[in-house]
Parts: sequence; structure tokens; C-alpha cells
Amino acid sequence: MSIVEINDLTFRYKNNFVFDNFNLKIDRGSWVTIAGPNGSGKTTLVKLLAGLEKSYSCIKILDYVLDKKNLFDIRKDTGFAFDTPDNFFACETVEDELAFSLENMAVMPKTIRKKINEISKLLKLEDILKQNPYELSGGQKQKVSLACALMLEPRILVLDEALLMIDINEREEIFKILKDYNVRKKVTIISFTHDLDEAKYSDRLIILNDGKIVVDGSFPSVFEEELVMRKIGLEVPFSVELSKKLKLYNLVSDIKLDLEGLVNELWK
Ligand code: ADP
Repeated sequence: MSIVEINDLTFRYKNNFVFDNFNLKIDRGSWVTIAGPNGSGKTTLVKLLAGLEKSYSCIKILDYVLDKKNLFDIRKDTGFAFDTPDNFFACETVEDELAFSLENMAVMPKTIRKKINEISKLLKLEDILKQNPYELSGGQKQKVSLACALMLEPRILVLDEALLMIDINEREEIFKILKDYNVRKKVTIISFTHDLDEAKYSDRLIILNDGKIVVDGSFPSVFEEELVMRKIGLEVPFSVELSKKLKLYNLVSDIKLDLEGLVNELWK
């Protein structure tokens, strides 16, 4: 069953058509990675899903048509984490920033405090709660943006290149936390990126080029479309390339998205 539906969406900036009769359905509880080279339409699609650009009733989220009237109902269950969150910060401390969206929904202060403790512990933000979000490093800002989204206990989480500046080890840890949200709490995750490596956490990969879906599939078969990915300038993960070659010699059974899995299978 779909939690997001886009039907015949056409969108343009002046004379530049980004989407022309674009269609997409995203299943409830899935984790979908949407990748594509620069200019393929990822940011525009995030803005459309966030209601920051007009979609003229072509988008349905959580059974609501995305329009002015339903925006509040959609936003209280949909968390967005952005690549450059500065534009969205509104408070002078990280703590206030975390509280902000829940205060707007008239949640009790005690509940907000409990949630701040839980999320700041989860994302290791305890030491920066009193700091000004604008004065943090890029990676810390991205963690705060993600924390704000998780404060809402969203049913849908949209990540817009949202973890790119976070140190690689910490990023892996956060992806694992998000996988837990996805599997255990059934949060639907839509992750926009240009890095195909990130796809290893998702169960479906969609590749956009020029506002069109050029690849759409689940793993590992979706990487049979490797040539299409290369043609539009996307770098195929090393583990995929290597495991495809090893598969030809029957050394591994399937395409692997992570090196660890590949090494484990080779050592079996
Ligand atoms: P991506 O996020 O994949 O890089 P975008 O959604 O930013 O892609 O861009 C899709 C197309 O829309 C590109 O051709 C880009 O030049 C154009 N575009 C994006 N934002 C604007 C804007 N504010 N005004 C005009 N054209 C834009």
C-alpha cells in the first residue's frame, strides 16, 4: 500500500520543465533511495514533497492530497532533514530548536523534555544542546536537522543529502539507527542522494535523470542496470563492481552492496 503517490506531476521553473507527467508510488514502511546526477530533479522533488513548491494536487501523502489545507496534517507526520539546514533553523540554541516543532503542536513541556533527552542521546547531541545551531560545524548542523525531524516521531522521513557532511564512521552509525526506525518503528524513509553507496540501507533504488525515472528496482537485481548508471555519470559502488566480476566465476552468489558482506561470503 502506498504512503506517497505522485500522479502525472508536471512542474517547471519558467520555461525549464523539470517533471513532465511524472509518476511515483512509495510503499508504506519501505526505505527508498532516490539518486541521480546534478540537475536530475532531486531537490525539486524534495521541495514539492515538503510543500515548498506547488504540486497542484498531484501528490498524495498519508492519504491526504498535498495542498495548503492539508499541509499541517501532513507535516506533523513527515520529518525532513536537509543538506544545508541553516535556512530552517529558527532558535538560538539546539535545545530550543529541538523543542520548536513540538511546541508548535502544543505538546506538553514534560513530554518535549523527555523527547529531547531521548533524541539527543541517540544522536550524541548532549554536549551541544546549549550551543547556537548556526555556529556548529556542517556535520553537527545536519545531525541537529535530523534530530528535529525525529522529534516529531514521523511516519515518513525524507532525507535530502542529509548526512553528507557527517564524519563517515558516525554516518554509518546513524544509518544503522535509521534502519532500526525503518524496520522496528515502520518509518518510511525516502533518501535523496547522489551517492549510490547509501543505497545499501534501502530496499528500493530509483534513479532520476532529467526528471525521469531511468532505473527502478530492488537489490541486487537493480545493479544489472549498471550501464545506465555509468552513462549518466553515477559512480557504481566498488563492492557492486567487484562482486559482479566474482559472480561470473561463481565465487559469490549475488551482487553485494557492502564490502563486509562480500568479504564474509568469500571467506565462507
Ligand atoms: P538536483 O537536486 O538533482 O541537482 P534540481 O532539482 O536542483 O536537481 O534541478 C533540476 C532542474 O531544475 C535543473 O535543470 C536546474 O537547473 C533547475 N532548477 C533548479 N532550481 C531552479 C530554480 N530555482 N530556478 C530555475 N531553475 C531551477
